[in-house]
Amino acid sequence: MSAETRPGTRIRAGLAGAPVEVDLVVVGLGVTGVGVALDAVTRGLSVLAVDAHDLAFGTSRWSSKMVHGGLRYLAQGQVGVAHESAVERGILMQTTAPHLTRAMPMLIPITSGTAPLQRLLSRSGLAAGDLLRRGARTSAETLPRPRRLSRTETLAMAPGLRPAGLVGGLLGWDGQLEDDARLVTTIARTAASYGAHVRTRARVLRASGTEVSLRDETTGATTTVRARAVVNAAGVWAGDLADEVTLRPSRGTHLVLRGDRLPGLRTSVFAPVPGSTNRFVMVLPQPDGTIYVGLTDEPAPGPVPDVPQPTEPEIGFLLDVVAATFATPLRRDDVVGAYAGLRPLLDVTAPDGSKGSEGSGQTADLSRRHAVLTGRSGMVTVVGGKLTTYRRMAQDAVDAAVAAGGLVAGPCTTATLPLLGAAPRPVLDALEEPARLVRRFGTDAALVLATAREVAARAGEPLADEELLAPAAAQVPVTLAELVFAVTHEGAHDVDDLLDRRTRVGLVTSDRVLAEPLAERALALVGRAMSS
Ligand SMILES: Cc1cc2nc3c(=O)[nH]c(=O)nc-3n(C[C@H](O)[C@H](O)[C@H](O)COP(=O)(O)OP(=O)(O)OC[C@H]3O[C@@H](n4cnc5c(N)ncnc54)[C@H](O)[C@@H]3O)c2cc1C
Repeated sequence: MSAETRPGTRIRAGLAGAPVEVDLVVVGLGVTGVGVALDAVTRGLSVLAVDAHDLAFGTSRWSSKMVHGGLRYLAQGQVGVAHESAVERGILMQTTAPHLTRAMPMLIPITSGTAPLQRLLSRSGLAAGDLLRRGARTSAETLPRPRRLSRTETLAMAPGLRPAGLVGGLLGWDGQLEDDARLVTTIARTAASYGAHVRTRARVLRASGTEVSLRDETTGATTTVRARAVVNAAGVWAGDLADEVTLRPSRGTHLVLRGDRLPGLRTSVFAPVPGSTNRFVMVLPQPDGTIYVGLTDEPAPGPVPDVPQPTEPEIGFLLDVVAATFATPLRRDDVVGAYAGLRPLLDVTAPDGSKGSEGSGQTADLSRRHAVLTGRSGMVTVVGGKLTTYRRMAQDAVDAAVAAGGLVAGPCTTATLPLLGAAPRPVLDALEEPARLVRRFGTDAALVLATAREVAARAGEPLADEELLAPAAAQVPVTLAELVFAVTHEGAHDVDDLLDRRTRVGLVTSDRVLAEPLAERALALVGRAMSS
């Protein structure tokens, strides 16, 4: 097997062969942790980054999959945070991950019942959002300017809207991710390509600023790794490792519908919550043909579960709001999937001797909406923020770790560092590989296909491209080629990794059942190729 297609040596399950002494250990392989790993390794540090479960096991796979421009922060008067968010959105969409992002139209329907104040707020919100875009120097080709739509235009973009009383719409633009877990996987693979050791199924039992005690979840063996700095990026679980961090999670729930439940929908729609001037439920068409409806914001006190579950009242609430905006009746059994995620909101920050990363105390850090805290042992914890701002969070966390560990490191380069597969939009548009592979792997689409061909041949089962690229089933677009690549290059260890994180088939339970044989086949093929 060629070096190109040899199963990934650096993203692996368990700790066999992992270094026992590094510059930096990163705890957690959500978007924040993989961002820290990439930032650190590209500054010249040796890195071991671990997760108790898998890449994107936590909150990072339960998002709305949007690349936000920071309008919400602007509404709260936090101009600096809003600007930072818009800048990070521009970096993701134009430089680091054009292949994994796209402009997403957002429609706010206007009806005869829309209060004048709400119309004004919506219009000025979109105008302010466009100011943020310009302030961040994101081009209007990347994110077009907002505009008003006539009633006819509105219905052409969202034919399912209730026509009665509809007078038109407001159209704005924001960023959309191909998939949140795919972003995490691509960042991890990029970090690994620069030399970071990325290990799944490696749980940190205890951590300080200079040492972590780990359990290999594949064998049960425990080990200690010494480090000059440690970053805790364990999301809603960060407080388990750092006494100084207390989180107050809140649950956000989304529904998954088949695309044919709202036929012809060409835009996301912000459906107003009846009786409120500034609360909306988002109806979000996805690149795989499904539609997400979200989201709620419910306090979630008590122990943090591994996988949070949506509640029936949340599902009912989301269906009711959509029913008030769309003519198509939606029933409970139209909901083919539902998922919930926990926002890692920081609660009380009684540092007890810990200090903020910029030496300016914690208030300054919290006002940025992500927090970087250096604890008494020197361990740096980074929490909060969002997918969109992961790069900036990582930069701040590595700056703090370098200071805490007295490390010698180069400057941060991630703002200009394309992730694997990234290329300018015209280059991506000119690629000849199947559109799904290009959307998910960019310029690496050819490598995905070549890998699958080689693995099948080595396994003694040469397969035609038609078979490698065939969808798992009608309405289940996942292919054998990408599943094989997930095993060889993305550290997928079992069927769950393949269907719930490297692809998102698992969001629809009935589709997952259909795709399981293909996932098992991918694992068997790679197993045979490896032993040949
Ligand atoms: C409902 C919802 C919708 C959202 N929508 C958006 C959106 O559209 N756009 C956006 O930009 N942001 C969005 N966000 C915010 C964003 O999803 C989160 O801020 C982000 O994913 C948090 O990532 P993280 O890496 O910090 O945490 P996580 O993704 O939770 O990662 C933490 C990881 O640490 C691991 N871990 C925990 N303990 C240990 C241990 N002891 N040892 C080893 N590993 C451990 C876990 O397994 C987990 O994989 C949304 C959030 C929610 C809840």
